[in-house]
Amino acid sequence: MREYNCKVSKRCGGCQLSYLRYPDQLIYKQNQLSSLLSDFCTVDEIIGMKNPFNYRNKVQTAFYWDYKRQRTASGVYQSNSKSIVPTDKCMLEDEKADKIAVTVRKLCDSFKLRPYDIKKDYGFLRHVLIRRGFNTGEIMVVIVSATPVFPSKNNFVKALLKEHPEITTVIHNVNDTELNLALGARSKTLYGKGYITDTLCGCTFRISPESFYQVNPVQCEILYSKAIEFAGLTGKETVFDSYCGTGTIGIIASKKAKQVLGVELNKSAVRDAVTNARLNGADNVWFVCDDAGEYLDYITGEGERFDVVILDPPRAGSTVKFLNAAVNARPKRMVYVSCNPVTLKRDLDYLTENGYAVKKIQPVDMFPFTSHTECVALLCKN
Ligand code: SAH
Repeated sequence: MREYNCKVSKRCGGCQLSYLRYPDQLIYKQNQLSSLLSDFCTVDEIIGMKNPFNYRNKVQTAFYWDYKRQRTASGVYQSNSKSIVPTDKCMLEDEKADKIAVTVRKLCDSFKLRPYDIKKDYGFLRHVLIRRGFNTGEIMVVIVSATPVFPSKNNFVKALLKEHPEITTVIHNVNDTELNLALGARSKTLYGKGYITDTLCGCTFRISPESFYQVNPVQCEILYSKAIEFAGLTGKETVFDSYCGTGTIGIIASKKAKQVLGVELNKSAVRDAVTNARLNGADNVWFVCDDAGEYLDYITGEGERFDVVILDPPRAGSTVKFLNAAVNARPKRMVYVSCNPVTLKRDLDYLTENGYAVKKIQPVDMFPFTSHTECVALLCKN
């Protein structure tokens, strides 16, 4: 296995576990999860990566003006701060994406496009977002600027494509807010379709610039497959997919279930989910834009029954309101996909006190070199 040798690791702070070799990181995470969760059941062995480098298929590079050298510099935001650490590559990021970001930087100098300086409120380029479809190879480049006028944009795009003909779409986004890495509300497609597609567990998904899509596709496929396996689908089940995002888990599940209902709070994610369902010819899956708990309460009140409830909440975990609705819905099984073991423990405590037993916990290492871990837990009704 390659050695970790990042020169900016200390300043960047993104790789909290870089002081450990990869096999030791897995042991560290396993121990941490076992001490937190083994009261519920044995925690299965964490599934690590064969190659734990360059797994991020979503890359964001920030730009600033280097006064000393009188040229544009680029790098990553320091964890929890606004300062940019100059670097051309990150050991966790897709290598092709890193190269494209360097080309964007060079082109900015040759086209005399100054990076944006937030203190002076002067300049053009803020950051670039690059996403790559792992299985399709499609590449999206989003140029995010502070001002709406993009001088010589056609020649800029031409020069970028000449250097990287594998880019399939280029988008210009205007972010005039205070938030550094955010995308603004206005986007204009300069080249290609304005989105990319990728395949995951045999299904196709559309990824727009602002869509949520897991950043580690290799491990994501393993995670979702585990979630579907834990759901125990035979083709007869009705499934409630809560916190469904762009519908990924629900659409994959729909191939093996009778019916799937996905609920998600974010409007644009629901729009993507509907498109994704159509893209996959999944006509037994529906999506609703609402609070997952409120909707589950409502629909069970209408007499609807679910065999399986899947939940994949954000880092803050679920809420008593949702968990209570899930318990009242009385599904045979619940599958909890979690990106934060601490809130997972809190929510499993609630569910085990209310008629469910934890049968399996499978950790998957989605974010090597960082302190984050993802888990899938299976609960069955007592
Ligand atoms: N299951 C998806 C997305 C998980 S991210 C996937 O794997 O891709 C968590 C999602 O929960 C986000 O899309 C967020 O918008 C949504 N969310 C947060 N609070 C919610 C709530 N109260 N009700 C429904 N969805 C919610």
